[in-house]
Amino acid sequence: MGKNKKGEPLITVPCAGCGRTQRLRERRVVLCEGYTCGFGGHSAKNPRFVLPAVPDGCVRHIVPNAAGAFSGYNTRFATPEEIEAIARAREVLLTGQVQSPCR
Ligand SMILES: [Zn+2]
Repeated sequence: MGKNKKGEPLITVPCAGCGRTQRLRERRVVLCEGYTCGFGGHSAKNPRFVLPAVPDGCVRHIVPNAAGAFSGYNTRFATPEEIEAIARAREVLLTGQVQSPCR
């Protein structure tokens, strides 16, 4: 396969927010859907950047330092427990709105 200790493949990991890239050894990178230079999907160079919304029934999982200093993120289908927790959180949100109808 032509791979030896010295010829470890490098991969380029771009920040989804600002486009900054890092070159890292492939096996030191946790494969994720995308990466950002700040934690939790934030970009230090582009503070207004937000990750795309998580589709219904899915959760986003942040992987700290997935690629060097970059955090990674993955979106996956929520487990039944998580769906339940999301539904409960929404209910709380709705209840809060009902409790303060006028401002
Ligand atoms: Zn960035």
